[in-house]
Amino acid sequence: MPENSLENLQNKITNQIVCSKCEIEFMKGGTGSRSLQKYSLLDVGFTNRGLQVWCRRHDVNVVHVDFDGNRLKADFRSLEPKLQ
Ligand SMILES: [Zn+2]
Repeated sequence: MPENSLENLQNKITNQIVCSKCEIEFMKGGTGSRSLQKYSLLDVGFTNRGLQVWCRRHDVNVVHVDFDGNRLKADFRSLEPKLQ
């Protein structure tokens, strides 16, 4: 991954992280949401171990990634939409 590549700032998500409880409720229907993304209420943040995804709707852990003490590269820059 080149250090300054703007390509890394595009949406490159290949596998969405979802709350299994939200997914079950959404698949049953009746949530009133058009997509699981809109139904989900996920918080993402750093912890002392690594990075955690937390479902606010169900107040449960979705995933907690353990960095095992490693400091990983991260890019917090963002691209602004091009104005016409
Ligand atoms: Zn949930």
